[in-house]
Order: sequence, then structure tokens, then C-alpha cells
Amino acid sequence: RVKEEGKNNFQFFTSEMNELIARKSKIAMSIRKGLELNEFSVHYQPQFDLETEKIIGVEALVRWHHAKLGTISPAEFIPIAEESGMILRIGEFVLRTACQQTKDWQDAGVEPFRVAVNISARQFSQGNIAEVITLALDDAGLAPEFLELELTESIIQGATSAISKMQQLKAMGIHLSIDDFGTGYSSLSYLKLFPIDTLKIDQHFTRNILIDSKDAALVDTIIQMARNLGLNVIAEGVETLEQLTFLKARRCNQAQGYYFQKPLLPEKIEELYLKVKTR
Ligand code: C2E
Ligand code: MG
Ligand code: MG
Ligand code: MG
Repeated sequence: RVKEEGKNNFQFFTSEMNELIARKSKIAMSIRKGLELNEFSVHYQPQFDLETEKIIGVEALVRWHHAKLGTISPAEFIPIAEESGMILRIGEFVLRTACQQTKDWQDAGVEPFRVAVNISARQFSQGNIAEVITLALDDAGLAPEFLELELTESIIQGATSAISKMQQLKAMGIHLSIDDFGTGYSSLSYLKLFPIDTLKIDQHFTRNILIDSKDAALVDTIIQMARNLGLNVIAEGVETLEQLTFLKARRCNQAQGYYFQKPLLPEKIEELYLKVKTR
């Protein structure tokens, strides 16, 4: 009996695994077509200065509505695209779309703000990132100071060439931030070596600041460390007024999250923040 159950469990496990593998390869194979069919789009989540409560930027977040599979989360397809190399194509699409959109907003006469684009490790290490970015900025006519790149700690760990690439981007006037700060395994000494402007406190820390005193202590420490190093610090995933109050009391200077707004269609950004009358 025990043996039989074991066997059934094993079969159940393998069929579930097979399903996962099948879905993964289906996703991997339909990225190229999805790009051709314009199934990908970009949403924008506002970021705020906590002192002035004004919008200071938006984060560009890719979206994919697959014809057959429906909406697929970037948390699912970005790692698959990283593996296959298609992240280079997706990344360039997001970068170009975000730069063009931001320039269009500026042309509409609004107070200019920055757009933050997520850059994955493979995109950073493999592609000629500085060239891809220069072309995207030039084609859009966007000044480099309005672009921010969100890098992860894995980029910093990855290659020794990372520092010179970052210096090159920084020299162009582009802002650099560390996304999901505190979740990687990097040594803190990179904060001294790399030309970084902003630390983004990972949303898992933000979520727990009122529940877990250790997470609260970590967030407090990250904010003070950023301030002492002369860096901006932005809290991700702020969902409640209580979390915001905690962050303000610790003198965190920027925030984004559902408490303010979810990632929005560009039209919605215009309606809410830009007061553009005609399109
Ligand atoms: P991320 O860069 O850390 O982005 C933050 C994620 O948290 C986004 O999920 C955003 O929609 C979500 N979020 C924002 N505020 C809140 C909140 O208050 N509560 C909660 N629960 N979630 C919040 P999304 O858009 O699903 O993206 C997930 C991840 O996928 C991103 O994490 C990023 O790592 C990756 N990603 C998204 N777009 C791109 C892209 O264009 N390129 C690359 N390389 N990665 C991307
Ligand atoms: Mg991000
Ligand atoms: Mg993040
Ligand atoms: Mg993340």
C-alpha cells in the first residue's frame, strides 16, 4: 500500500513537472512571435518624492498578453527570456518604448520626470548596452538624464567589466539604481566602488516593516546607510499609510507602490499626473 502510494505520488509529480516544462518551452518559443504581433506593452508605475509628494519618475514594467495563454507575468517570462537570450529583444523593446513615451510626455509640455527601465543581468553583460541605450535615446530625442537603469546585485557580482560599463553609462548622464536591494549576496563594498545614485528597498522588506521588527531594523539601516553615502533611497511596494508613515519617520526620501498607484497605461498616467488636454 505504501509502495503504491509512493508510486502514484511519483507519477503525479512527473506529470506536473511535464506540464511545467511544456508551458515553459511554449513561452520560450512564442516570445519572438509575440514581439512581432505586438503582444508586448509597457505600463508605468509612478514614483514619488516623500517631502514634496510630487511625482518624480515612473518605472517602466513590461506586460505580455499572449493570444492563447492570456496574460503572462514578467516574473514568469523574464527568467525564461534570460535563459533563451530573447531578453535582449524584449529589453530593447521596453527601452525604446519607454524613452519614446517619456519624450512624448515632455513634448506635451509637462514638467519632465525620469523613466526607470529594468535591465536584466544578461542584457547588461552580453549586449553592447551603452550602444543600445545611446541609439534608443537618440531615436527618441530624449536627454540621458531622464533615463534611469534599474540593475540588480547579480549584475555587480557577475562580471569585472560591470564597473567600467557603469562608469560609461554614468558619464553619459544616465542614472543608475540597484533594484531589490538587500536580497542579493553582494558585498557592501560595491556601494563604494560603483557609481550608483539610488537604492531601491525590496518590496519584501517594505511589506514586513510593521509585522517583523527585524525587517523594520533592516529597512531603517538601509535608509540611514543610503543617506550617509549620499544616495537616494526609494521604498518599493508601499501598500498602506502605516508603511508610508514608518518610512517618512525614518527619512526615506522616495516611494512607489499600490498605496499610490499600480503600474498604469500611459493614457492613465497622462490623465492623473500630466494634465495633458489633447493627445
Ligand atoms: P521589480 O523591478 O522589482 O518591479 C516591482 C514589481 O512589484 C512589479 O511587478 C510591480 O508591478 C510590483 N509592485 C509595485 N508596487 C507594488 C505593491 O505595492 N505591492 C505589490 N505586491 N507589488 C507591487 P511586475 O510588473 O509583475 O514585475 C515583476 C518583475 O519582473 C520586476 O520586479 C522585474 O524584476 C521584472 N520586470 C518587469 N518588467 C521588466 C522589464 O522590462 N525588463 C526586465 N529585465 N525585467 C522586468
Ligand atoms: Mg524594478
Ligand atoms: Mg524591485
Ligand atoms: Mg524584483
